[in-house]
Amino acid sequence: MLTVRQALDQGARILEDGAVGAARLTSEVLLCHALGGGRDRSDLYAHGDDELSELTWIHFGRYLHERLQGKPTQYITKVQEWYGREFRVSPAVLIPRPETEHVIEVALARVPRTGRAIDIGCGSGAIGVTWQLETGMPTVLADLSTDALAVAAGNARALGAQVTGAVASDLAAAFGEAQFDVVLSNPPYIPDPEREHLQREVRDFEPALALFGGPTGVEIYARLLAGASRILKPGGWIVMEIGYQAQPRILEMLHAGPWREAETQADLAGWPRVISAQLWPNRAE
Ligand code: GLN
Repeated sequence: MLTVRQALDQGARILEDGAVGAARLTSEVLLCHALGGGRDRSDLYAHGDDELSELTWIHFGRYLHERLQGKPTQYITKVQEWYGREFRVSPAVLIPRPETEHVIEVALARVPRTGRAIDIGCGSGAIGVTWQLETGMPTVLADLSTDALAVAAGNARALGAQVTGAVASDLAAAFGEAQFDVVLSNPPYIPDPEREHLQREVRDFEPALALFGGPTGVEIYARLLAGASRILKPGGWIVMEIGYQAQPRILEMLHAGPWREAETQADLAGWPRVISAQLWPNRAE
């Protein structure tokens, strides 16, 4: 039989031969998952001489095989840490990205913490659940995908978030006028023609519904902004993630609509990543 250390080394070599990035780290994460029992990577080194059970070896082999086929590690381990909390993910939801944490940061910096919030296109619920837990605001989760809503509701429950609904909705369509004080959203915004250029991990494994936003990717923002201006109370805020070439078009839309105070936040790589704006406080103005 193999020891933990030998399995780890073999896994790393197999992944490296398969041109999987971060091969050693991936081998560590998958072996922890195969061992179960909430082990973390440091345990692997503390117990490097332990023998692997046959069952663990079988599980580990299956996970390595899945990763070699392109399946993202997070769909194998079914978890992703985001804004300091552990979210469960499934192939029904996008794996929450670190750069999306800027949505929370911008909202915390700009949005008053009173009233009700909604996460439109919530996927795993990362944004809405985090916002609820950070601010205490009652928050609704909305998504077109009922499979995604089940994942989001599960995360809300597991993390103890006061979510006031998980609602199937095409963007804002299911909601009435002037109900919310803040709309948060990371909508699908990748231009359809970019599909073929995506990494296979994204293209072949993550949900197309959560990725593609139309021929140029900005079409969805016209609908999102129209819906948000209807369901927000006057003076309410929208904070949304954007695609890296979308900023000029979205600022144009905001300037042409009932919005003010539009601001763009860049991500750590310097790309425009989050746009926030306020609905006119008084529509008659
Ligand atoms: N940032 C994601 C990616 O690059 C896309 C997320 C989205 O469309 N909202 O894969």
